Amino acid sequence: METLYDVAIIGAGPAGLAAGLYAARAKLKTVIFEKNKPGGQIAITHEVANYPASDAGSTGPGLIEKLVAQSDGFGAERKKENIVSVDFSGPVKVINSASGTYRAKAVIIANGAQPRKIGCPGEARLTGKGVSYCATCDADFFTGFEVFVIGGGESAIEEAMYLTKFARKVTLVHRRDAFRAAQSIVDKARNIDNLEFLLDTTVEEIKGDGIVESVVFKNKVTGELSEHFADEDDGTFGIFVFIGFLPTSDMYKGIVDMDESGYIITNDNMQTNIPGVFAAGDIRVKSLRQMVTATADGSIAAVQADKYIENVFEELMPEIDQQYATA
Ligand code: NAP
Repeated sequence: METLYDVAIIGAGPAGLAAGLYAARAKLKTVIFEKNKPGGQIAITHEVANYPASDAGSTGPGLIEKLVAQSDGFGAERKKENIVSVDFSGPVKVINSASGTYRAKAVIIANGAQPRKIGCPGEARLTGKGVSYCATCDADFFTGFEVFVIGGGESAIEEAMYLTKFARKVTLVHRRDAFRAAQSIVDKARNIDNLEFLLDTTVEEIKGDGIVESVVFKNKVTGELSEHFADEDDGTFGIFVFIGFLPTSDMYKGIVDMDESGYIITNDNMQTNIPGVFAAGDIRVKSLRQMVTATADGSIAAVQADKYIENVFEELMPEIDQQYATA
C-alpha cells in the first residue's frame, strides 16, 4: 500500500528542518526532501553570530548538525531526493522526484533561494575554476593568493573579511559607492589591512583557459574598462560572488501565488493560496531572511499544517486510511 505522509517538506535548510522537528514532535508522519546535503545556505556560512543564543564559535554547519539531529530524533524521515514537479490540485498533494512519486496531506515548501549570478561572459564556464559562491567551501584554495569579492551587502562584506584570513589580498568590488551592509560592518572591514575597496565598478567578463586568469572591470562613473591579470607566479586568482539570492521557486510557477521576483506569498500562518500548502524560509515574501526567521517560519508552518490536517483535510477525505498506509 502506498504511503500517505501527513506532512511533506521540500527542502532541508533551517526552515525545513525546524518544520520537520515540529511536525514529527506533533506525531505527524513527516518526510523532508533534500537534493543535496541538509542545511541550505547556512551550511556554507562559516560563522553565525546573530542566531539567538549562538556564540562566537557557532558555525552554520554546527547549527545544522544539531537541527538535523533534533529533527531525526523526533522521527522526521529524510530522503535525498530532487523534487522536480508538484500537483497540488487535489486534497492529497502529489510530489514527484526524478525517481518516484510521494503523496502527503499537507506540504511545506522550504527550498529557499540560490546565489544570484553576475551573468557576465566567462562566469558560468569558470565556476569552480576560480569563480565561487561559497567562501567557507573554497577559501582554503586561495591561501596566499589574490581574491576579488563582488557585492556590497552584508554577505559580501562578511565573506570578504573571512577571506582576508586566507588570501594575500582581498579586493571588494561593488557597483556603487554606498553599501547595503550596515555601516558598522563596513567600518570594521575598512580597518583590515589586506582588504581593499574598488567602488563604482562592475565585472564585465571573466577570462581564462580552464582557470581564472583575468577579469575585466568597468568603472561606472567614467565608463573606462580595465583588465586585471593574475600575478605571474600565482597564475590565477579567486572571484567570490555575493550579490544576493533568487528564490528557487520555478517549479511552483502558475501553481502557487508569487510576487514579481518569484517569492511565494503567504499569510502570517505561512499558508499559501492553496489550502494545505505552506511556505517557510527564504523562498517566501518577507522582510528579513535570516536563520532565526527561517526556523520560526518552519515551526509556524508545521503547527498550521497539523491544524489543517485535523480540521480541514480529515473532513475532505474521511476514507483516506483505506486507500493509503498512513502510519
Ligand atoms: P543583498 O543585501 O541583497 O545585497 C546584494 C548586493 O549585491 C548589493 O550590494 C547589490 O548592489 C549587489 N548586486 C546585486 N545584483 C548585482 C549585480 N548583478 N552585479 C553586481 N552587484 C549586484 O544580499 P546579501 O548580502 O546576500 O544579503 C541578503 C540578506 O541576508 C540581507 O537581508 C542581509 O542583511 C542578510 N545577511 C545578514 C547577515 C548577518 O546579519 N550577519 C549576513 C549576510 C546576509 P546594490 O546595493 O547596488 O543593489
